[in-house]
Amino acid sequence: MARYTGPVCRLCRTEGTKLCLKGDRCKSDKCPINKKRAAPGKDPKARTGKRSEYGLQLREKQKIKRIYGMQEKQFHLTFEHALRMPGVTGENLVRLLESRLDNIVYRMHFAACRNQARQVVLHRHVLVNGRIVNIPSYQVKPGDVIEVKENSKKLAIIQDGLKEVSKSGVASWVTVDVDAVKGTFVQYPRREEVTDLVGVKEQLVVELYSK
Ligand code: SF4
Repeated sequence: MARYTGPVCRLCRTEGTKLCLKGDRCKSDKCPINKKRAAPGKDPKARTGKRSEYGLQLREKQKIKRIYGMQEKQFHLTFEHALRMPGVTGENLVRLLESRLDNIVYRMHFAACRNQARQVVLHRHVLVNGRIVNIPSYQVKPGDVIEVKENSKKLAIIQDGLKEVSKSGVASWVTVDVDAVKGTFVQYPRREEVTDLVGVKEQLVVELYSK
């Protein structure tokens, strides 16, 4: 499936917020958002006016889509899946996004960012319940055990990612055994636990797609 391969910091500058697409750099002073760089484009001032309702909904959708590194078609299909599930559609959407295999690999710190996690999955380094799965959008279920293949455990990309476990810990809905490079997806996260989406209004995405 096609994916965005351009400069990712530009995406954060467009949204005017940190989308954390580059691992360690996002936490450093090198982040352009920390330097308050203007939005990309010839006339950034032209973008600072009041946004229409549609504009607000569109930006919110783009923000979530970019955080999870997805293209429009795939994101829309995920939304339709969320719509068919019982409960609140916005919360269902977050739950489906959070239980993607590439996201879980990132949450377990087997990669420094979701882009890297996607590569780790695509390159067949990851096992789910003992079987190789190379589909980044694969839906992980509570109780599933995710591990890195034996001869891939020493890869620099994975070992570098794992350093983050001692620095910032892991999300409350996963457990990780650093030595075994293995973890368990314990449960679906509650909406308020997904701190990457603090301030993001997924309800606007529901409104946008309901038009
Ligand atoms: Fe770049 Fe990360 Fe900063 Fe976004 S948050 S602008 S990806 S360094």
